[in-house]
Amino acid sequence: MSVRKNIKKTTLNQYTKDYVFDEKSHIRKTADGRMYLPAVYCHNGHKLMTDDARFDGLRGVKLLVKADKSREIIVVSPFLDDQRKEGANFPEGTHLQICCPTCQEELEKLIPCTCGYGAYRRALYLTPNPKDMGAIGVCDTYGCPQSFINEDGELLFMVETEE
Ligand SMILES: [Zn+2]
Ligand SMILES: [Zn+2]
Repeated sequence: MSVRKNIKKTTLNQYTKDYVFDEKSHIRKTADGRMYLPAVYCHNGHKLMTDDARFDGLRGVKLLVKADKSREIIVVSPFLDDQRKEGANFPEGTHLQICCPTCQEELEKLIPCTCGYGAYRRALYLTPNPKDMGAIGVCDTYGCPQSFINEDGELLFMVETEE
């Protein structure tokens, strides 16, 4: 019996073959070929990376989450299609307000998520300037692994739950 019962089966779709992974790209690859985000930012330019939790040596993404009256910190993995996270736990399906730990503002809505009514993908920007048009959209429902990455207005990656 697996104790990680909340881990869902997902597919990582890649929509471009010519993305250049290098030491300046916003999406990078480890030596063993796994993709990760070296840095992400809120809409006010605050860097969300933290040393509080590392995932295979890489810094995690620190988020302030609010649900009902609770305010908690969770740190999520910087790897694409990786559901590991540390910190607070919520019941599966809890609708969260995902906020920047620095300015405490809720992350911006990008598009609705297909996992449930009222669920939205929230923006973690790839640069400090939202106008640069690079973002990862993460769902604001706890336990939903669906996300995507846009850069220069182009869809690069999408993680979808398998039915
Ligand atoms: Zn902020
Ligand atoms: Zn969702």
